[in-house]
Amino acid sequence: MDIHSTLKQYFSFDVFRSPQEEIIQGILSQRDMMVIMPTGGGKSLCYQLPALMQDGVTLVFSPLISLMKDQVDTLKARGIPAAALNSSLGAQEQDAIHRELTEGKLKLIYIAPERIRNQYFMELLSKVKVSLIAIDEAHCLSQWGHDFRPEYMHIPRVFPMLGNPPVAAFTATATPEVKLDIQKSLQLRNPVEFISGFARANISFQVDQVDSELDKYGKIDKLVQQWKTGIVYCATRKSVENVFMNLQDRGYSVVSYHGGLDEKSRSFAQEQFMRKKFDVAVATNAFGMGIDRSDIRFVAHFEMPGSIEALYQEAGRAGRDGDESVYKLLFNYADKRVQEFFLEGSNPGKMLITQVYELLKDSSDEKNEVHLSIDEIRELLGKRVNPMAIGTAISALAKKRNIERFDVPGQRKRGTRILTPRVLGYSLDLSDKELEEKKRRDEKKLKAVIDFAYTSSCRQQWILRYFGEAGSSACGNCDSCKNRTVSTFRAGTDDEALIVKKLLSGIARMSDQLDDGSWVPSFGRNKIIQCLLGSRAQPILSFGLDKLSTYGILSDEKKKYLENLFRELEREGLIQTVEGEFPMVSLTSHGSRVMFGKGDYSLNWPARETAVLIGSRPNSFLVNASDNSQGLDEGLLKKMKDKRAQLARARGGAPSYTIFPNKVLERLATDKPTDVEIAKQIPGIGEVKARKFLPTFLKIVKEHLIFED
Ligand code: ADP
Ligand code: ZN
Repeated sequence: MDIHSTLKQYFSFDVFRSPQEEIIQGILSQRDMMVIMPTGGGKSLCYQLPALMQDGVTLVFSPLISLMKDQVDTLKARGIPAAALNSSLGAQEQDAIHRELTEGKLKLIYIAPERIRNQYFMELLSKVKVSLIAIDEAHCLSQWGHDFRPEYMHIPRVFPMLGNPPVAAFTATATPEVKLDIQKSLQLRNPVEFISGFARANISFQVDQVDSELDKYGKIDKLVQQWKTGIVYCATRKSVENVFMNLQDRGYSVVSYHGGLDEKSRSFAQEQFMRKKFDVAVATNAFGMGIDRSDIRFVAHFEMPGSIEALYQEAGRAGRDGDESVYKLLFNYADKRVQEFFLEGSNPGKMLITQVYELLKDSSDEKNEVHLSIDEIRELLGKRVNPMAIGTAISALAKKRNIERFDVPGQRKRGTRILTPRVLGYSLDLSDKELEEKKRRDEKKLKAVIDFAYTSSCRQQWILRYFGEAGSSACGNCDSCKNRTVSTFRAGTDDEALIVKKLLSGIARMSDQLDDGSWVPSFGRNKIIQCLLGSRAQPILSFGLDKLSTYGILSDEKKKYLENLFRELEREGLIQTVEGEFPMVSLTSHGSRVMFGKGDYSLNWPARETAVLIGSRPNSFLVNASDNSQGLDEGLLKKMKDKRAQLARARGGAPSYTIFPNKVLERLATDKPTDVEIAKQIPGIGEVKARKFLPTFLKIVKEHLIFED
């Protein structure tokens, strides 16, 4: 039975959701998989269906008994033999499942990671064929995720005793760090990756550049008037209070929520908002866990958040009911300061952590206890320290078990106990490198928010690409999409698309590609353009750039046109400028796909004037070929012969030599000219044939030089 009839027969669905089919095919071809889809996207089918089509049993790791039970019940109702082993079962029930397993009757068995400590079970399992190990909620493997479960880390230990079957990881968390953690912990072998389904089509993403608070209040006012129900996220408690007062003064139905409010006020705000007693919540990011009010029509950030992850998660609380909604970022570059303050606060260096530790130790009594508030510590350390950083330092020490915090009965202050009084500050187990790395990652996340605010490309698409979801098209619903007039924003003509491909290839040739497919730039925009134009400028020649196969491939174009094109390609996220001492340009992963003809894009295409051809220009490819000639290019020759055969067939089976004789093709495949005038000098190419056939063959040469060389 094929996968379509299995889908129909067992699951009663008519069609696969994208990309379920590809995922299933990947699993059936025994590849390791990394699948990231939002909750409700349809992940479980991706391992349940192949389980039915393969010999043996599919082992599913799942974190919660209730989740397993639901899944198994549904499977059984569909006539699929499945079982979940967990601690809630009695001995007899467990025995029954064990028996079914050894008798080969089960297609799927669900377990929690703790189960692998059960030796008896593992022995049974190692005697049957395990066709696939599926790991549900795989983000539980990542310390970066919101739900790290140490038990998950032991899962890979059982792979060898089960004969190292293919492993498929499933999660709804799309951040790059989590993904990397999962891949590493599971040691996935060259996994096929799928990230999809994160688009929120019913949310219109918008960024407004604002100059002042007053400006912001005006915008929020408009939002509330137009959309009525929503959440305004603020970066600080103070800002929450200000915005709250402002909205309340204007007579809106509004609650406020932040960590500084007492427990009672917070739960009041949350409950009343959830019960739709109020329209608007003004809150810090502390508000949100478990907010699933479905009729939230707008979400706004009064100040920029610290990451796209936070932005998208919070924006995503709008429009859960699927109705039209809006997300608005009120962007003022100056607000970056607030986030920088947080960034500093959550990334104390080794020095500060050590200082805090020493101070706590020095101030502790004979029981190794100390009662200092953060403000007091700050006072003792000197006023200029970021108070938040002290809090983070204390948490870091507590996490490493150098200290522990405890409540003091009858006091609001918490006490601190030194657990390692004999350990000196400088020998604390702290890696400067790790701390630095985390800080850099946080900085990168903040920078992404700024980039997002300034992009003029589709905001939804931009976010999806940030999370690694490729292949989405412009949403048509965000401010960028709506600001575009149809006439200027469009897909390219064939000519334009070829120019873009050449331009991207030129950039690729002038950068390095890493093993993970990302690009490291080595040249700036001007050098790349000069090279593409075939400039004889000294720096180009001295770098040997005239030896590149992409040298001069856009010599028909005007410099201005290429500059404009660079700008538009950057806006659309096909290329990126990496700032540094000298700004340098490289491809993005999207650009990389487009270069290989695998990605769609639209541009505000700049006007194109071609350079006038005067006589025959020096042909760079010819120069190039004779400079470092490796003689006849067999690959290219084969392509041309194939083309010739095709042309011959199209002419009712005319003899090949009536198109071009072998000799001519061999010369073309040796000299690799790209210019008609120059190629015509090859003996055997007359005026008529040149007109009729040369362009076709020169196109092959060009493409070969771009992609194969
Ligand atoms: P996830 O595990 O990604 O959160 P589920 O696997 O629970 O999502 O699927 C969510 C819902 O979508 C389920 O009710 C499931 O039956 C349904 N579903 C999955 N695949 C299809 C499909 N191809 N056609 C129709 N419904 C589907
Ligand atoms: Zn858009």
